[in-house]
Amino acid sequence: MSQKQKPVPVPVRVLYSCEKCPAYCCTYSDIEVGKRDIARLAKHFGVDYATAEARFTREDPKEKVRLLRHRSDKVFESACMFLDREKRQCTVYDARPGVCRHYPDSRRCGYYDFLRFEREQQGDPEFIALT
Ligand code: SF4
Ligand code: SF4
Repeated sequence: MSQKQKPVPVPVRVLYSCEKCPAYCCTYSDIEVGKRDIARLAKHFGVDYATAEARFTREDPKEKVRLLRHRSDKVFESACMFLDREKRQCTVYDARPGVCRHYPDSRRCGYYDFLRFEREQQGDPEFIALT
């Protein structure tokens, strides 16, 4: 194929809406972050790497990886410390870790499918499905 005939990327239509969701994925207990993620958070908050690592992450004792710290949540038991508990939005969106940028890495989100099904069953578009 010649360079002039490069395929035009087809936009992928996602089948979920994070704006209508209580940010369930931000409540996962194990949200793994790497060195680049910690460095990005450190820059965002104007602190050094060690401070960001200690302040925003904890070590998974089994896997020896760093996980985002949690705090108590109003909807689910706990959520990532960066989740705005009222607005259900990320407060560090531009500096969020790579795993948050890519999730759910698919056209569908399993939780959103479940949420939509429950909302249809309940006849309540605001219903929050707890797992
Ligand atoms: S659980 Fe799914 S729909 Fe909800 S915020 Fe996360 S990716 Fe979006
Ligand atoms: S950093 Fe932001 S997007 Fe990632 S889990 Fe925390 S609140 Fe959610």
